Amino acid sequence: MVNIDAELEKKEIINHYRKLLRKAKPVLKDGDAKLIKKAFSIAAEAHKDMRRKSGEPYILHPLAVAEICVEEIGLGTTSILAALLHDVVEDTDLELSDIEKMFGKKVARIVDGLTKISGVFEYGTSQQAENFRKMLFTLSEDVRVILIKLADRLHNMRTLESMPRNKQLKISSETIYLYAPLAHRLGLNAIKSELEDLYLRFTDRNVYNSIAAKIDATKAARTKFIKAFMHPINDELEKQHIKCEIKGRPKSIYSIWSKMKRQNIPFEEVYDLFAIRIIIDAPPEQEKSLCWQVYSIVTDFYTPNPDRLRDWISTPKSNGYESLHTTVMAKNGQWVEVQIRTERMDDIAEKGYAAHWKYKESNSVSESNLEKWLARVRDTLEHNDHTALDFVDDFRGNLFTEEVFAFTPKGELKTLPAGATALDFAYEIHSQIGSRCIGAKINNKLVPINHVLKNGDQIEILTSSKQKANEDWLRFVVSSKAKNHIKESLKEEKKKAAVDGKEIIARKLKQQKLDATQDLLEQMREYFNAKTHLDLYYKVGKGIISTADIKRFTEFKPSSPLRTKPNVQVTDAKTIEKELTKLKNRYEDMLLIGEDMDVVDYKLAKCCTPIPGDEVFGFVTVNEGIKIHRTNCPNAAELLANHGHRVVKAKWTSQHEVAFLTGLKIKGTDRVGLIQDVSKVISDELKVNMRSMSIFTDNGIFEGEIMLYVNDTRHLEQLIAKLEHVEGVVKVSRFDSKE
Ligand code: MN
Repeated sequence: MVNIDAELEKKEIINHYRKLLRKAKPVLKDGDAKLIKKAFSIAAEAHKDMRRKSGEPYILHPLAVAEICVEEIGLGTTSILAALLHDVVEDTDLELSDIEKMFGKKVARIVDGLTKISGVFEYGTSQQAENFRKMLFTLSEDVRVILIKLADRLHNMRTLESMPRNKQLKISSETIYLYAPLAHRLGLNAIKSELEDLYLRFTDRNVYNSIAAKIDATKAARTKFIKAFMHPINDELEKQHIKCEIKGRPKSIYSIWSKMKRQNIPFEEVYDLFAIRIIIDAPPEQEKSLCWQVYSIVTDFYTPNPDRLRDWISTPKSNGYESLHTTVMAKNGQWVEVQIRTERMDDIAEKGYAAHWKYKESNSVSESNLEKWLARVRDTLEHNDHTALDFVDDFRGNLFTEEVFAFTPKGELKTLPAGATALDFAYEIHSQIGSRCIGAKINNKLVPINHVLKNGDQIEILTSSKQKANEDWLRFVVSSKAKNHIKESLKEEKKKAAVDGKEIIARKLKQQKLDATQDLLEQMREYFNAKTHLDLYYKVGKGIISTADIKRFTEFKPSSPLRTKPNVQVTDAKTIEKELTKLKNRYEDMLLIGEDMDVVDYKLAKCCTPIPGDEVFGFVTVNEGIKIHRTNCPNAAELLANHGHRVVKAKWTSQHEVAFLTGLKIKGTDRVGLIQDVSKVISDELKVNMRSMSIFTDNGIFEGEIMLYVNDTRHLEQLIAKLEHVEGVVKVSRFDSKE
């Protein structure tokens, strides 16, 4: 037992509280400090007997969240109050109505949005998804709910170290799946990058550490390079009396890692490890012209790549980002990205949404872009009655998209997600125009409705009163507005057809002197293999099931009075829970794999083909028992984020004699006998069994893919090292099978 010094702890809490007040001071109005003090005492009292997993007094968490809100997001008093109280309702006897009485409706609504739903959820949905949806619903009233939630998540990620491993994985996955994209969408760049880095640190510590070490090791060289690069530019800036600050920020660890993975290259080959940022001190009316003036200076000294000029100043990104980007050739033959922006633009780029309020008067363009996005989110929320899981997926899809800009015939600018088609554009104008759309004229040329839009297209939509939405359309629209309207029309149509179908069935049964009892309808549903009764009616109404088919059913029916139900395995939340408890009791929360392969029904996932030595987790599937995935599996984030309750801890036990399938990619220069040498290393020296090998050669370059059986990661590493020594082989890397 650790002896806790109560006095010392009290002092620490007070210190944090004072720090919060100090940081908030510039935004406080009369009476605010008093309110904050009140919220702090209530929270401190409510959490007084609680500790975090780290052993710290719990109150330090809400204090830290409030501090992030003030300092890193730029929020004010209402948010500070809500942040201090955000866990009070969930964890203590205090109720929302109490908070409303003390702090007013606004604070209470925000705290409500931050309080998780409790209770049991049916199978097919997930608690995490439900909670996320609930939080987003509050967003339509107050965006601060999400901003505080992000602060909460950031602090939890910063303090994730003391959590058990399975919680670390679950929380990290949720973060990368939803919260980092959300931070990105709201323009909170600094927070987004930190969340991503923390995700990597907790899911793949080795990779994280090695990249961090390499960034550190190259720091001196980078500083020197930037100094030399900026030298002529600085002189000229001075001559033209432009005041600015230069930053040479390396890319985040996560984005370097993503690039390495995406292009399958080592750290050393990532050419844009950092960008040079020139931040100009500019009066509002000169912002744009000064940025271009600096651009002109930079490109006087270095040749720009004409394909890499990005002007986010004239048309800001919809998350509010403004900046001028160019990539130029440095004296050493290296491409360097230079980002030119003003102090205001930089502030918005780092802090995002909340920073906009600060500059509201001086700039309304980007403000309205974010507002437009929020309006779209509200619209999606209002028109969405799918399950929470579908909803989260849909919403998440909306977070990632880059935009395409297009114009109406009258020159009105519309912003749509990249990949949007003429039909998306039609729905963007009006749902009636969308559902009647038969084609479009783009820049005066006739195109079909699935034509993908390009920036700057001017579009005239052609309609016909006879046209109506059909299922096929869902395959090529990308905006959620279009998707929702199409789905709604289809549902309407389905309902209409179902009404007809129900009548037809009733009539047919009557002719056969049969009563349309529930039992009979149920048998009929099963006979025609329809999912629901509505589905059955619809199929009849649409003529997919003909009246002759119905007649056949009624004739078939009497001969088998009580057809027994086929033995369908029903998997619902309860049985999954049961399975989990069974497992947990047996393995004390840990699934041991590797030796007694047949004790538990588990399979190794094909998406990431884990082998012993990999860090893994078990996932309870609906039909196929437990699947073992690597924690860095491409699907892991989605599984852990949405179905965390179905995850079982798993660990390899000692393993010998058991071989696991994995894949290797070999690249090199071709020569006579190379293939023999490679196979010799594999089969002779290391006694590895090969399952398949495919080699492509092209102009002296050879690329091979080998599937083979190894015992564990150490075995695999040995093999890679040996193969890299074969003459002509340049690179050997593991790959996940694509089955
Ligand atoms: Mn919290």
